[in-house]
Amino acid sequence: MKQLADGLYQLRGFPPNGINVFLMGDVVVDAATKHAGRRILRQISGHTVTAHALTHVRPDHQGASKQLCDTLGIPLACGEADVPAMEDGDIAARMPDHWLNRFNNRVMTGPPHKVDRVLREGDEVAGFTVLDVPGHSAGHVAYWRESDRALILGDVLNNMNLITGIPGLHQPPTIFTPDPARNRESARKLAALEPALVCFGHGPPLRDTQKLVDFVSGLPAN
Ligand SMILES: [Zn+2]
Repeated sequence: MKQLADGLYQLRGFPPNGINVFLMGDVVVDAATKHAGRRILRQISGHTVTAHALTHVRPDHQGASKQLCDTLGIPLACGEADVPAMEDGDIAARMPDHWLNRFNNRVMTGPPHKVDRVLREGDEVAGFTVLDVPGHSAGHVAYWRESDRALILGDVLNNMNLITGIPGLHQPPTIFTPDPARNRESARKLAALEPALVCFGHGPPLRDTQKLVDFVSGLPAN
């Protein structure tokens, strides 16, 4: 694990920064695909972990969620509008109809699991504030800590080209994003915070506030 800020760690993965999992205080944020359980459990062993929280319910983020919660006996939290997808497991039905989504759903999606804590705007998780940032998924949330301006924003933006792996800021691909305009509104809400550290679901962390602000200000208005 690599420490990014006080109490905030990024777990190792392969390829590096490809699908990110974070330890935020005593909460594991996101769980990659259903194949990631062992690598996550191995890295967090020895750390106190009391809960698991998601940025959003998608095959590359909830894959090992049930395994983590069952193995560690910890509760699961996610955004309110993503609870049905987590609990009934039919994620493909909530994504644009595209063969790649059906494929990802088959090879990455983990089993459904009961959501113990429903997250809403302003809630607190491990010293971070929950922000509603819908668009990429209906119940997408971000985690924000004002004291050091650290932000975990899931897939509101990617800091990597998902095909080539080359780092760089992008909107999440529209084939994975049911409401791109709403997602851009969410990106503007987050950029307005002027975060000093931005942690993405895909791609390396970014410590260049101006780069984020400039990218978001260049997005289409709607
Ligand atoms: Zn993702």
